Amino acid sequence: MSTSIVWFKNDLRLNDNETFFRAIANSDVVLPVYCFEDKHYKTSEFGFARTGNFRAQFLLESLQNLDSQLRILGSGLIILTGDAIKELTTVASRFGAQTVYAMEEVAGFEKNTQQQLDKKLKEIGCVLETFRTDTLYQEADLPFAIKDIPEVFTVFRKKVEKEAAIRPIFNTPIQANSPEIKSLELPAFGQLALSEPNIDIRRAISFTGGANEGHKRLQHYFSEIGAISTYKETRNGLVGADYSTKFSPWLANGSLSSREIYHELKKYEATFGANESTYWLTFELLWRDYFRFIMQKHGNKLFLQGGIKSKTAHSQLHDPAKLSRWVNGQTGVDFVDANMLELKHSGFMSNRGRQNVASYLINDLQIDWRYGAAYFEQQLIDYDVFSNWGNWSYLAGVGNDPRGQRYFNVEKQAEYYDADRSYRSLWLDQ
Ligand code: FAD
Repeated sequence: MSTSIVWFKNDLRLNDNETFFRAIANSDVVLPVYCFEDKHYKTSEFGFARTGNFRAQFLLESLQNLDSQLRILGSGLIILTGDAIKELTTVASRFGAQTVYAMEEVAGFEKNTQQQLDKKLKEIGCVLETFRTDTLYQEADLPFAIKDIPEVFTVFRKKVEKEAAIRPIFNTPIQANSPEIKSLELPAFGQLALSEPNIDIRRAISFTGGANEGHKRLQHYFSEIGAISTYKETRNGLVGADYSTKFSPWLANGSLSSREIYHELKKYEATFGANESTYWLTFELLWRDYFRFIMQKHGNKLFLQGGIKSKTAHSQLHDPAKLSRWVNGQTGVDFVDANMLELKHSGFMSNRGRQNVASYLINDLQIDWRYGAAYFEQQLIDYDVFSNWGNWSYLAGVGNDPRGQRYFNVEKQAEYYDADRSYRSLWLDQ
């Protein structure tokens, strides 16, 4: 009898999850596990927590939903805590598992854990099988090898759009055979060294974790209100739930896959028509892929001050007082402060806001951009290692921007994007 472990990480879904699909297809018995790894709850070298309370809450909700879905198939979710390598090896030996299925990692920390786990499992006669489940395009379908990924997004995009195809999704398996799995026991916030986040009624949207909620949001944005048909015109907005898709938190922990979104988009276009706005979502999802493949190409260089260009960064200061004013929305520049308060009190910020506050930290305060990236890592409900560090290094002029350093004139941006001050009033006056 073949027994496998499915190690869920940032792929917290059963639909379009090749890892789960293959495990079910190739095993008699599966043990789905999730591990709260200690290292994800430590303080980074930049003084911020690696996971803050907004994302932790979203994660707990996502796991609850994953467990419920697994129970419908006849299984459940086993929660582990501590060191993933040790914990998974112990479970594998206890149940005599021959294979551990997991999503393929390409970024620093996670890749390292994957390599070490592979070694440890081999020692007990178990194999680690990994599948890349977080991209729109599969690496094998790209018109270039990873080492040849163009450094300019537009070059990458044009060639990919022309020469590669997006694969269909993997359907949810109909059954999962597992030994009896006791009811889900999630850690309390205190056990993760965090406290429960407060709800701020000014937040753009109430995010609830899990694939079910992710799909509800998808249906809402597409067929219920048809906002996708005007997305390109509204996506630079600042106030409210629907100026942009808000898919990012579900994408970040894998409750939704970008391929699921893409195929739903195609169905929507078939019924309601395609336009520039519907295309633009695929365009943005391609940015998401791009940062993933760029990290795969350059590895840990993306986390260095000089970035993938190994150049002297323009922003190098370490000034705790200035940094603290930025973090707490006390710089005196109202557009920056409003955005930073939104992030602090809700765990979210628009793309327009992110570009402006990042440019302000880099160009005006001249602080080492990595402090900004590390604060975003702590605070963002949608934090994703690739999109976050990729965008930050891009704006700092040490990443993939062919134009070099980007400067956003914050005052002008505020005048243009928040002409009636409604965004600033929301966060500064109430
Ligand atoms: P939409 O505008 O509706 O876009 C749809 C999807 O496309 C997003 O959910 C996202 O998956 C993808 N996308 C859009 N813009 C980008 C982009 N510039 N780069 C990569 N993917 C993109 N996004 C994250 O998901 N996690 C992060 O940690 C993150 N950090 C960022 C840091 C900085 C400094 C900047 C400038 C951008 C960052 N982004 C990050 C990208 C972008 O701001 C968010 O994806 C977006 O604001 C999320 O809201 P949405 O889902 O409504 O976006």
